[in-house]
Order: sequence, then C-alpha cells, then structure tokens
Amino acid sequence: MRGKPEVAKGWMRGKNRFPLKGLYILFPMVLLLCFYSAESVNISVEIYSDKPVKAVIFAPLNGNYVIQADGKTLDSCTAGSVFEISISDDSLILKTPGKVIGTYYAIRFHGCNERNQFNIRPLSAKVTRLYDDDLTITANGTGLKLINLVQLENYIAGVIECEAGRRKPPEYFKVQAIICRTYALSSLARHISDGFEMCDGVHCQVYRGAATTGTVIEAVEQTKGLVLVDQNSQLIVAAFHSNCGGYTLNSEDVWSTALPYLRSIKDTFCLNMPDAHWEKEFTNKEWNDYLKNREKQMKPDSIRREAYWDSVPNCKRIYLFDRGYTIPLKEIRADLDLNSTYFSIEKSSDKIKLNGRGFGHRVGLCQEGAMHMAQLGYNYRQILNFYYTDVQLIDYNMLPSSGFN
Ligand SMILES: [Zn+2]
Ligand SMILES: [Zn+2]
Repeated sequence: MRGKPEVAKGWMRGKNRFPLKGLYILFPMVLLLCFYSAESVNISVEIYSDKPVKAVIFAPLNGNYVIQADGKTLDSCTAGSVFEISISDDSLILKTPGKVIGTYYAIRFHGCNERNQFNIRPLSAKVTRLYDDDLTITANGTGLKLINLVQLENYIAGVIECEAGRRKPPEYFKVQAIICRTYALSSLARHISDGFEMCDGVHCQVYRGAATTGTVIEAVEQTKGLVLVDQNSQLIVAAFHSNCGGYTLNSEDVWSTALPYLRSIKDTFCLNMPDAHWEKEFTNKEWNDYLKNREKQMKPDSIRREAYWDSVPNCKRIYLFDRGYTIPLKEIRADLDLNSTYFSIEKSSDKIKLNGRGFGHRVGLCQEGAMHMAQLGYNYRQILNFYYTDVQLIDYNMLPSSGFN
C-alpha cells in the first residue's frame, strides 16, 4: 500500500496485538470460505469521489466478509455487524460500537460468498448506500480513499440504474448494459495513476451502488460479457446522447477523430420523444452582446444563419456573412447553455428565438430513439446495429487484449 509498512501501527506499538478474540481459530475457516471468485472479473471504483469523507459506517448486508488490515486477516463478519472507520493523521481507526479494534494503514472487507453486499454511510451524510462485493479503505491526504472492488457485471447494473433509471423496456436495458460494459473496459486506464480504475462521477460513469431493479439485473445477466468491437476487433468508443433530433453526427463533426462506426444516420425513432424539441429566446440586446463579445468588430445586425436545417444536418458552424466570420456551433452551445447544436434562428423586431432539436452531442446512440425502438419490438442487436455502423458483438474474453488469447 503505497510503500507503507505491512504491519499495523498499533501492533508495532504493542497495543491491540490481538484485536479480535478467536482470530486464530477463525483464520483457517475464513480461508476455506474464500474460494468463489475464480471466474469473475473485478474492477476497482473509487466511491464518494466527489466529496471528502473523514469517517464511514460499514455494515455487511448479505454474504460473509473477511476483515483484512495491513495484509493480515483479523476476523470475519456478517449481517448485523457494524464498523466505524475514521481517519487520524494518515492512519485509519477501526472501531465496533464502543470498542477500538486497531489502527491501520489499509483495511479491506473482502466478500467470500457468491453474493456479498454491504451498506455504507459517511458520518456526515444522511443517506446510506448499498454496494456489491469488496471495499478497501486507505488514507487519502485529509480523508478516506474508498475503493469498491466490484465484479464487472454488478458494476454495470449499478451504472445502468443511475444512467437509465428503473422504468424502461428490458431490451433497452440490454443496450445500455453493452454500451456501459464496452465503455468501462476501454476506460480502465483512466485513473491508473490514482491507484484505481474508474471514479464514480460523470468523469467516468455515474455509479451510486448496487442495482436493485430486477429488469436491470436480468438485462445485465442476459448480455453477460458482450461488448461492441469495430472491424479490427477493437473496443469501440460507445458514444451516446439523449436525443439526436432526427440526425446523429459523424464523430469528426464534434470531435477531431473520424471513427468508421460513428457515422451520421437519419433517425426518426426519437422525433416524438421528450427531448426532441427545445426553444430558447434572447432579447436582441442579449443576443447582440453575446455576438459582440465573440467578435468585437462585427456588425451584429447583419447576422443570418445559413438554411442548414435538414439538408446538411451535421453543419458545425454558425455563419455570419458580413465578415465571413464563423463561430463553431459547439462553442455556441456551451456559451448559451443550449440543449444541442441543432437549431434554427427566428428573428423578430425585439427578440431572437432559437428553435432547436435534440439533446446532447448527437454522436453515436440516441437514447430516446433506442428506447422507442425497444418499445416497438426491436431487439438489442438491431438497435445497436442501427446506431453504430459496421460493429460486432463479441464476448470480451475474445478480445485480443483480454489475456485469454
Ligand atoms: Zn473518472
Ligand atoms: Zn435520435
């Protein structure tokens, strides 16, 4: 653990030498219990990554947990046990109610049954969260670094519940499961220098713990291991957005790289969905002030936009003809907090009205279109092949980089 000694501080000081009674009797039993995880693929996710945590309550809910501290096994615990872990300087204090067990650098709660779940709550928070599988705790500067070592499929189910909600067609959850799995496996190096693989925020994929919805869990099981690859058997960048407004964009229309599977397509499935249309109004002064800030010298009254509505759905710039000056639509969207870059401009005597379509960057899979396709009876393979061009579904064990080939 980051070069720290393997022995607990408390033990070095000669205190808490036998922190839990029965340790040496339980130890062989503990080893016998821990044999289930032969085939599972685990990923490490930092949880509560967006807020500093000084102390947490940990309570097993399902399964059997072995408690390991600084590489040594202390005991095992099941539902009904409660622990508090807090930080003091750069060490962790492990307590049960009313009793200090010891002071350590690293603590791991390792699930030994087929299904292991725990509840966790920072002392400063009101809401308890439920997680699958293991938890490791170390000190992280001024707070606790909490890492959920979780089976990939459990993680995927948790992410889907955060990203897609609970009440969607089962076939849509399968689509999300495959996208989410593909994204996770292609992003494992994002936090390599931080000592874990994914964070639980929007930077990676929002993850707030175990899934509890049956249809989500079943969708993950029914697509277990499936990922999307391109013609070279490489994991794709499985981009998705809320609603494309009728056309998706080529990857190079928004980002710098042209990817053969992220091509613009016409999508009529999303046209009557909630995020299909939007409007935003500005007074002439607001609009002109904005344009003046972007191009100090130009004459704002002479602004027009090329009629790019359906004929060129992937246009990238708004055109200001008097000076040949253009502003990338992507920047206008960010500047004015617009739902998308797909809009027309309606000018009247006192205001500017933007009539827009879609929500998001519009590259890759359109979630509301996919949802409607699922409602109409399309299966997950048809949906994925509609939005991603020339892709294949394979088990990730077949990937050249999986270590199995
Ligand atoms: Zn991240
Ligand atoms: Zn769409």
